[in-house]
Amino acid sequence: MVYQASEVRYEHMHYRKTGNSGIQLPLISLGLWHNFGAVDTRENGRNMIRRAFDLGITHFDLANNYGPPPGSAELFFGEMLKTDLAPYRDELIISSKAGFKMWDGPYGDWGSKKYLVSSLDQSLKRMGLDYVDIFYHHRPDPNTPIEETMQALDLLVRQGKALYIGISNYDAKETAEALKILDELGTPLLIHQPSYSMLNRWIEDGLQKVLEKNGVGSIAFVPLAQGLLTSKYLNGVPEGSRASKETSLSRDSINEEMLSKITQLNELASERNQSLAQMSLAWVLREGKVTSALIGASKVEQIEENVKALNNLEFTNKEISKIDAILSK
Ligand code: NDP
Repeated sequence: MVYQASEVRYEHMHYRKTGNSGIQLPLISLGLWHNFGAVDTRENGRNMIRRAFDLGITHFDLANNYGPPPGSAELFFGEMLKTDLAPYRDELIISSKAGFKMWDGPYGDWGSKKYLVSSLDQSLKRMGLDYVDIFYHHRPDPNTPIEETMQALDLLVRQGKALYIGISNYDAKETAEALKILDELGTPLLIHQPSYSMLNRWIEDGLQKVLEKNGVGSIAFVPLAQGLLTSKYLNGVPEGSRASKETSLSRDSINEEMLSKITQLNELASERNQSLAQMSLAWVLREGKVTSALIGASKVEQIEENVKALNNLEFTNKEISKIDAILSK
């Protein structure tokens, strides 16, 4: 059946300005790292993308290597654009990245201009797009001058292949360096994509200050710690869950100490009339410092549940202290 987007898709989602730019992002964005590759069920992927857009999720995050196999998530998203989303292209913020290994030889990894330019060309072909909205350098490269990497990002914007640029996994110092070079080149940095969740607070130690000072937005990846910060592992490892597959989340990470934290956080979430997933997302989005929480999902129902986090984004000081106490144990 031909897809027709919901007419009420903008009624419930909230949007936040990305740093000092003119771009607003939905508070919840959807990433295609897992569950949208050639090995996954296409029907499920399609239903998730459709439902996400119907719920006001206008931002879909990809990378050259998402799959498996690498590249297949972009191919899948390209198909979705053709069959379902083409009429809505101008309502979408589509991002891609390069920085991890994509092809053999010295030009298919890290941060050279050669790699970034050819990788984005490949991504555009896979998705059938003329341009991506955001193109990221996926991780800092200690062996390429940062000037070269930033020049590549600047070039891609000037060529019209990316509207905006971002960096991912750069620490505070590397980010400050990148900002200085981009300032000289005249291409602003729209956004930083760091990992951030209740279990991983490294950005609070300097990076957030650099971003705030320079008017750069941020989108937090793995805000649910790959599912640890939901109620799913409270009673063991369910069949089909990410930890059961051990692709990027190991069973070992669900140890006694972790379970004790998750159990206490889950109780606090119930007191707030939220699921743990919802409280975890609200926490990432608290105080407006992070522009968007970048979730993953394996089922339509997870996206529906997660978007409802927006019903309660406020925390009392007491709740924040309680969370800090649970996490510091
Ligand atoms: P999350 O922390 O949101 O974990 C998502 C997983 O948690 C889902 O696949 C699902 O796992 C489980 N889950 C989600 N919602 C619920 C729920 N309500 N109840 C129970 N379980 C739930 O993020 P991801 O690890 O998926 O990463 C999100 C995105 O971040 C990626 O797609 C990618 O775009 C980006 N990313 C960027 C990186 C970078 O270096 N820039 C690195 C990693 C990710 P299950 O399969 O078990 O159901």
